[in-house]
Amino acid sequence: METYDALLASITPATGQNSRTILDPATGEAVGQAPVHTVEDLEAAIAAAATAQPEWAALGHDARSAALMKAADAVERSAEELAQLLSREQGKPLNGPNARFEVGACAAWLRATAATPLDPETVVDDGETRAELHYRPIGVVGAIGPWNWPMMITVWQIAPALRMGNAVVVKPSEYTPLSVLALAAIINEELPDGLLTVVSGGRDVGEALASHDAIGKVMFTGSTATGKAIIRSSADTVKRLTLELGGNDAGIVLPDSDPKAIAEGLFWGAFINTGQTCAALKRLYVHESQYDAVCTELTAVAAAMPMGNGLDENNVLGPLQNRQQYDIVARLVEAAKASGARVLIGGNPDADQPGNFYPTTLVADIDNDNPLVAEEQFGPALPIIKYSTVDEAVAKANALDVGLGASVWSSDLGAAREVASRIQAGTVWINKHGAVDPRVPFGGAKQSGYGLEFGAEGLKALGVPQVING
Ligand code: NAD
Repeated sequence: METYDALLASITPATGQNSRTILDPATGEAVGQAPVHTVEDLEAAIAAAATAQPEWAALGHDARSAALMKAADAVERSAEELAQLLSREQGKPLNGPNARFEVGACAAWLRATAATPLDPETVVDDGETRAELHYRPIGVVGAIGPWNWPMMITVWQIAPALRMGNAVVVKPSEYTPLSVLALAAIINEELPDGLLTVVSGGRDVGEALASHDAIGKVMFTGSTATGKAIIRSSADTVKRLTLELGGNDAGIVLPDSDPKAIAEGLFWGAFINTGQTCAALKRLYVHESQYDAVCTELTAVAAAMPMGNGLDENNVLGPLQNRQQYDIVARLVEAAKASGARVLIGGNPDADQPGNFYPTTLVADIDNDNPLVAEEQFGPALPIIKYSTVDEAVAKANALDVGLGASVWSSDLGAAREVASRIQAGTVWINKHGAVDPRVPFGGAKQSGYGLEFGAEGLKALGVPQVING
């Protein structure tokens, strides 16, 4: 699309269609109109997907990959307009690891997914038995997503699904439908009609998608509670599921680390997308020998990071996307303050300000069982917990029933890897946190979900394994 207005116009519902106004979380002003789709619209989208899918599957990997490459080019051509819309609707700033970064990741993931090889595997070939493992298309895949990284997570779900020969029906979050509709409109410039449809409905549409007998698989990213509901509603049709659920990632700073050198990495590990990130650092465990130095360095970094309206090129932190999430963060910080924990910075929201801005908040001298530590805050507030022995830190890191990511910070790579091997999480990063890569599998442990995304493992998850024996 050549302009922002043209992009917005391309997804604006026709007069007379059911719609609702989406508000900018920084200002409370209208961003645009989103269609309110119903279960009937979902039925139509699934029917169109089922019609389009066989021909798409018959094209083969090379032609499908070529279409995804073209879709990446189309996203790049409209990158600035997409970033503007994402910034207004989600709230994340254009700059920093935010809106422009997210749109760039969409193009990168489309290309990497297209380029990942997936050949049939000869499992046995001993003269008597010959068995080959293939991955066949599933059919129609449902993709249900959250509001924090709406464009990027949609690409994570739809790119491998399309590459593997499936059609996709997407149910975006009610909070950020415009971003997903706009992204899909751009990608659809390169795809056959009906293959990819966004149904911008509420929870009822999500439930109907997760229980529909024509849907072979659901890719779900969102909260653990909704993931459990989807397991239940998909049970009668024995759907395949990939579940990327909530996390409460621990970071452990070992006694030999360099506080000044790691402070900025720690900050962005926790505050990327203003803390609204599934695999963000949400509990920081620091050895007592370095506790004060880490608190001081981290506070200095936090104080230097501007927060404000995302369209201001200066800002790198934005508002919470919605009031519900703002209230969760405010409640957890208040609980920490009431317990006597020490606020190093922030914790004092300006009630008169329009928008959902919660200041960057660091909380020290806090107990491990405080709600700010034990619950997922999903916002700009980081608790910093002091520990005495590494065994104690590992035990505390592993004490929760979620395990998406974790990190270990140390100047000694060998020591860090040894500690990493003892942490119950789908990914453990060393001297960084939350860095995802389209070539590297990503998924959760414990109640953070199951199934892997990205790379060849991610492609396999969007196919039905079939053995040809003979
Ligand atoms: P959410 O679970 O409230 O909503 C996610 C989606 O599910 C929305 O589109 C919603 O409409 C839909 N939905 C709600 N109820 C449903 C039901 N019963 N059946 C089918 N669909 C239903 O999550 P959210 O608040 O949008 O996102 C925040 C959460 O997502 C956090 O917990 C975060 O950690 C998690 N998350 C995880 C990852 C990951 O990769 N593991 C990535 C991003 C976010």
